[in-house]
Amino acid sequence: SETLLEVKDLKKYYPMKTGFLNRGQQHLKAVDGVNFTINKGETFGLVGESGCGKSTVGRSIIRLHDVTSGNIFFDGTDIATLKERDLKKYRRRMQAVFQDPYASLNPTMNVFELISEPLKIHGSPSIKEQKEIILDLLNQVGLKEDHLYRYPHEFSGGQRQRVSIARALSVKPDFILCDEPISALDVSVQAQVINMLEDIQAETGVTYLFIAHDLSMVRHISTKIGVMYLGNIVEIASSDELYTNPLHPYTQALLSAIPEPDTLKEKRERIILKGEVPSPLDSPSGCKFRTRCPHAMSICAEVVPSMIEVESGHQVACHLFDN
Ligand code: SF4
Ligand code: MG
Repeated sequence: SETLLEVKDLKKYYPMKTGFLNRGQQHLKAVDGVNFTINKGETFGLVGESGCGKSTVGRSIIRLHDVTSGNIFFDGTDIATLKERDLKKYRRRMQAVFQDPYASLNPTMNVFELISEPLKIHGSPSIKEQKEIILDLLNQVGLKEDHLYRYPHEFSGGQRQRVSIARALSVKPDFILCDEPISALDVSVQAQVINMLEDIQAETGVTYLFIAHDLSMVRHISTKIGVMYLGNIVEIASSDELYTNPLHPYTQALLSAIPEPDTLKEKRERIILKGEVPSPLDSPSGCKFRTRCPHAMSICAEVVPSMIEVESGHQVACHLFDN
């Protein structure tokens, strides 16, 4: 299938003043050389603990901020360095849904106003046309006609997220950044929203980058999954491959933390990682995971492991797989 998005050696550094009278200059390497591709109509799951840089990757791609270096090919055009004037035509094609719909929905606007806003920015439909489009969208996200003139505070968290999704869909995007869209919802509602996003993808062919801190949240929706640690992707595989054959010690630890059904015969052994995630201002030499890795060797402190394709579509950055 065709590639929609290709991210190459993406870096996002934030300058930080350090030292006596803040005379020093250091960089917080939030994203430190990330590579991945997403095919049209597929979902790439990006997973890692908070602070690993996954949201920064997402925000870089939809150009909510400038990037330090690297390429972001969107449907063949590198948008990483495009100026705002030239970015304009891509803004409609890339939409986003964030974790907290309450923060991203203006509380003084009703559903009609909230969804018609992007419609008006990207076109000039009549009121009648807007209403038809919005009623179709409400139906698509499982809301009702009589929700049209209600305000965000009148909805549950799950319903508010449905409004955010309808808003993102209103301009018929090719790509939606889903940054932890279900993390704040009740467990019972999470699966409903995931199912709805999958139905929408099947109907419209939209492509998702789906960000989560927990592997269990991305398993079913993702075609491929990337695991991030301290600004790098350490492993990429298809969803099934990653769950059945995790290779990177960090992926193995993340997976071991997911509760499994009692019926499962061979249970994963729980891997408890030592220590905390180091500061991205002071990340370890060589493999950044080495201070917590149960398999660390002497080479791990000296040489940065490069991404190796161990099988078609399964890549891992770890010296255990050097040959
Ligand atoms: Fe562990 Fe070394 Fe592999 Fe890093 S490169 S994950 S420290 S074994
Ligand atoms: Mg985040």
